[in-house]
Amino acid sequence: MNDATEATMHVLTRDGLDRLVEVLIERGYRVVGPTVRENAIVLDELTSGGQLPAGWGVEAAPGSYRLRRRTDAAVFGHSAGPQSWKGFLHPAREKLWSATRDGAGFTVETEETEPPRYAFLGVRGCDLAAIGVLDRVLDRGGHPDSRYHRRRKGIFVVGVNCTEPGEVCFCASMGSGPGVGPGYDLALTERIDERGHRFLVEVGTERGAEVLAALPTRPADRSEVDEARTAVADAAGRMGRAMPSADLPAVLAASRESDHWADVASRCLTCANCTMVCPTCFCSTTEDVTDLTGDHAERWQRWSSCFELDYSYIHGGEVRSSGASRYRQWLTHKLGTWHDQFDMSGCVGCGRCIAWCPAGIDLTAEMDVLVREGGHDDGAPG
Ligand code: SF4
Ligand code: SF4
Repeated sequence: MNDATEATMHVLTRDGLDRLVEVLIERGYRVVGPTVRENAIVLDELTSGGQLPAGWGVEAAPGSYRLRRRTDAAVFGHSAGPQSWKGFLHPAREKLWSATRDGAGFTVETEETEPPRYAFLGVRGCDLAAIGVLDRVLDRGGHPDSRYHRRRKGIFVVGVNCTEPGEVCFCASMGSGPGVGPGYDLALTERIDERGHRFLVEVGTERGAEVLAALPTRPADRSEVDEARTAVADAAGRMGRAMPSADLPAVLAASRESDHWADVASRCLTCANCTMVCPTCFCSTTEDVTDLTGDHAERWQRWSSCFELDYSYIHGGEVRSSGASRYRQWLTHKLGTWHDQFDMSGCVGCGRCIAWCPAGIDLTAEMDVLVREGGHDDGAPG
């Protein structure tokens, strides 16, 4: 949430939110937002605001995720589901090119079609920060990905200031939430009280202002703005977890030979779930496939993970053959060497890797052990 005064904040009713979905569709966007499917909050294309998860909340814990019924009809009253916006910007699997035999040679077709213009509805602070991490790595890094760039450049972002942190959330200690930071076109704060179900709206860009002008709104009054700000500030104090307050890159650099990696490995299944659900893990690999005649070949890109044995294969074998070395690699990159590479943390505190780890491994707890083991605890709350 920014420091806008009440003069720059607007109030949208619940019906107005449905109209926002319609206006975005009328402007040519494919609206993607949260909805309920298979007992989870998933991100999917929406054709109406009626598909939002009204009245659904989430109970999450290490290795556990359940939907629960809320006592109100809040549409953003849930924490993160298993998916993130990464799946729309950097798909799990996509064809890069294909080649078909043509006489003595091959005709090559690249997959350079214009991507859909997405409007992302309901992007939380942690997830907007995660998109910022992907931008840094895939768009402004040493090896820009042109497909990512084409998808990313047209995205309209409707952020949501979080007032309902979950049990595995720790964005406040990572500085990425619960309010949304820069990068949104519009940002909403959902309120349900005696004045009804409504959304306070902040404008982040000119095109956000144009969309808002097409909606039925009224100016927010001072007390509504103050209450919304208080609700977001209170959410920071209700995070289920916190990352320990310490120089994490230094702790990890000093923990290379810690016995704790073997302890984690005794629990870790090296299943890679944590990297698949993580909104910032960006690694991919390529696979070539041919048909049986040898007349047609395709190259596909798919997500990869540092938990895969093949991931560290170089001539002669894998560099990281043990589970301990793979977990160490993941955590050390995420919270340590990511800073060296990209000047930022690779973790935004969304908590997905904790909820979706089948062994219930919690990176905040593992870091806590390493911090204490190395005598780095500064005594400050995380
Ligand atoms: S930490 Fe959990 S989710 Fe990640 S690889 Fe190990 S068991 Fe799988
Ligand atoms: S490491 Fe875990 S908590 Fe951090 S951004 Fe990735 S999934 Fe979220």
